[in-house]
Amino acid sequence: MSRIHRGTPRNLARLARLLRAGELVAVPTETVYGLAANALDAPACRQIFAAKGRPAHDPLIVHLHSLAQLADVAEPNADALKLARKFWPGPLTLVLPKKPAVPDIVTAGLPSVAVRIPSHPLFRRLLKLAGVPLAAPSANPFGYVSPTTAQHVQSGLGRKIRHILDGGPCAIGLESTILDLRDPRGPRLLRPGAVTKSEIERVLGRKIRGPKKRAARGVAQLAPGMLARHYSPRTPITLHRRRISRAAVEQGTDRAAWVFLAKPQGVAGKNIFWLDPHGALPGVARRLFHLLRRLDEKGFARLHVELASGGGLADAINDRLLRAAATVDGT
Ligand code: AMP
Ligand code: MG
Repeated sequence: MSRIHRGTPRNLARLARLLRAGELVAVPTETVYGLAANALDAPACRQIFAAKGRPAHDPLIVHLHSLAQLADVAEPNADALKLARKFWPGPLTLVLPKKPAVPDIVTAGLPSVAVRIPSHPLFRRLLKLAGVPLAAPSANPFGYVSPTTAQHVQSGLGRKIRHILDGGPCAIGLESTILDLRDPRGPRLLRPGAVTKSEIERVLGRKIRGPKKRAARGVAQLAPGMLARHYSPRTPITLHRRRISRAAVEQGTDRAAWVFLAKPQGVAGKNIFWLDPHGALPGVARRLFHLLRRLDEKGFARLHVELASGGGLADAINDRLLRAAATVDGT
C-alpha cells in the first residue's frame, strides 16, 4: 500500500526531493487528485502511464508554479496570456505549441503541450519546492472515475505507487476545463470544466468553438457505444434529462439506486441519494465522483442519475455523466 502523507513542511520537502529524483507522487489539486512526475524527465513520466494503465497516445497536463515557467515549456500567444492572467492559478488548461524541453512521452508525440497553474495550496508549495514543472493526469486506473480524496487514490493505485499527499477533498471535484489555443482561426474548448465557455468568451471578447463531434446537448441522439466511455463506474448508469418522478422510483426495484441533483420531496429509502441539498451545481460537481464511487461499492444493479441543466458548470457535470453512462433515458 502507498503511504499517505500530511502536508507538513518536512513531508513536502521530502516529496519534492523524490519528485526531482524521478519518483511518482499522487497530489491533491482543486480539480481532482493527480499522479505527478517531473515533466522534464521522460523515464519518470513513463512510469505514470505504467501505473495508470494509460495508453501512450493520451497526453499529460503539465502543471506550473508560476507564469515565469510558462516559456520553458510552451509558446504562449496573446490569448493565452490574457486567460492566464484572469484564471490562473485555477482550473483552466491551455493547449499551446510546445518547447523542445518537454519530452514526447508527455505530449504523446504532439507538437503541443497542455499547461496550467493549479490553485491548491499544498500542490503549489510542492511545485515551488520541486522547482520543475510536474506532469499529472488523474490519479486513478485509466478509465475509472477520477479520485477526489487521498483514500480514492489509495483504493485505485495503492499497489502501484508509493506516495500520496493528502490535501483533503477536492474543492471543485471535476477535471479542468481544456482550451485549445493552437489554431490561428481561434480557440476551441476540448473539455468543459469549472471555468466556463462564457467566462472564457468574456475575457477574449469573442465566441469560441465547442468540442468536436460529441453532441453536448443532444442527449437523445446518444446511444450506447457512441460515447467515449471514461470516468466510468462498473455499475451501469441510466441518465435522466428530466427530473426523476416519484412514479418512476415507485415502479423501480430496490436493486436500482436513484440519484437526484437536489434532496427529493416525498421519496425516501436506502436506494435514494442526492448530490446537493439544494441542487447547487458547485456542490453537485464536488460530490459527483465520490457518490459514484460509493454507489459502485454497494452492488446496485443500475444507477439512475439526473442530468444538470443551465449551461456553465452543468455542461461539465453532464459531460462526465455522459461519458460514465451506458444508456440515456427519460427524454
Ligand atoms: P487528463 O485526462 O485530465 O489528464 O487530461 C489530459 C487531456 O488533455 C488529454 O486527454 C487531451 O484531451 C488533452 N491534452 C493534453 N495534452 C495535450 C496536447 N499536447 N495537445 C492536445 N491536447 C492535449
Ligand atoms: Mg483522467
